[in-house]
Amino acid sequence: MALIQMRDIEKTYHMDGVEVRALRGVSLTIEPGEFVAIMGPSGSGKSTCMNILGCLDRPTSGTYSLDGTDVTTLDDTALARLRNRRLGFVFQSYNLLPRTPAIENVELPLVYAGVPDRRERALAALDAVGLRDRSEHLPTQLSGGEQQRVAIARALVTEAPIILADEPTGNLDSATASEVMAIVERLSRLGMTIVLVTHESEIAARAHRLVQFRDGRITSDEPVQGRAIYAGTAVPGGVRS
Ligand code: ADP
Repeated sequence: MALIQMRDIEKTYHMDGVEVRALRGVSLTIEPGEFVAIMGPSGSGKSTCMNILGCLDRPTSGTYSLDGTDVTTLDDTALARLRNRRLGFVFQSYNLLPRTPAIENVELPLVYAGVPDRRERALAALDAVGLRDRSEHLPTQLSGGEQQRVAIARALVTEAPIILADEPTGNLDSATASEVMAIVERLSRLGMTIVLVTHESEIAARAHRLVQFRDGRITSDEPVQGRAIYAGTAVPGGVRS
């Protein structure tokens, strides 16, 4: 069964009597272990789609199943629980608490989930992004790349199998962006499912599959040449079977 299955998703916003059709029939299936990049012009519906994927927003119509659960039938509490268990989020602006040490930022999702042994797990997550020795630093005492790595550690700490990243390298210079992408690629090799929005084709080229949006629709959905990997197996010629 697909990990993520969106069918005919529509999302219409109403603002001051004006209707904005942000998504106009999006169908998207993602299997476990895929690394998918999403590109498209500003206003094409990428963030709206990510918000629905991340169970942060609900579609106007259509169906979305995550790990076999029909998300559209869940109440807010069940949705929050599913989100915490299955999804890790990484944002362009890191979204770290500014007066809170790195380690406590990483522990936050475990606090929400009521998990004991938080310190140990948060340290392991910081270790995974090479920042164990920065655990007591405040976000302001870290570089942009380090802050984004802390944010990735926070996404990893619950051991959720899916990472949703919305322009994770948007605020980083290209060398730092490349370091952050090396971590994302490593997570992908470890079998995590990754969906990443980007404006930069060099970043998208590191994914295995590229989905392009325009005017609230998917206009293209193709393997990235030479990078296609399916369920951990490289497919010759980059063609998915
Ligand atoms: P992208 O991420 O590709 O830039 P968005 O998904 O943010 O695109 O936006 C798609 C369309 O929906 C745009 O026209 C945008 O103005 C509109 N939109 C997005 N969020 C809202 C909202 N909360 N209320 C009203 N309109 C919105």
